[in-house]
Amino acid sequence: MPTKAPTVRLKSGYERIRRDWPQTKTVRWQKVRREVLRRDPLCVVCLKTGRIVYSEIADHVIPHKGRDGLFWAMLNIQGLCKPCHDAKTRDEIRAAR
Ligand SMILES: [Zn+2]
Repeated sequence: MPTKAPTVRLKSGYERIRRDWPQTKTVRWQKVRREVLRRDPLCVVCLKTGRIVYSEIADHVIPHKGRDGLFWAMLNIQGLCKPCHDAKTRDEIRAAR
């Protein structure tokens, strides 16, 4: 069994950030998210390294920080698997400190 890195602290940090953006609560976002996962059915980061992993999360390439222009731009959203998304979020949280 491969050992899994603990994600509890990371998740709480991510949830804290997520709560700040009311856009993610909207039906419009649910539709955009579905659209992105349909366009990118495989994690785009894993794909670059030759791994085939299904996308689970619609991720903003450039952190939107609440700006609608970046938030809703389909070109700024990519499909990622959870491990890749968690790693990216961790880097963003670290960079924001
Ligand atoms: Zn991935």
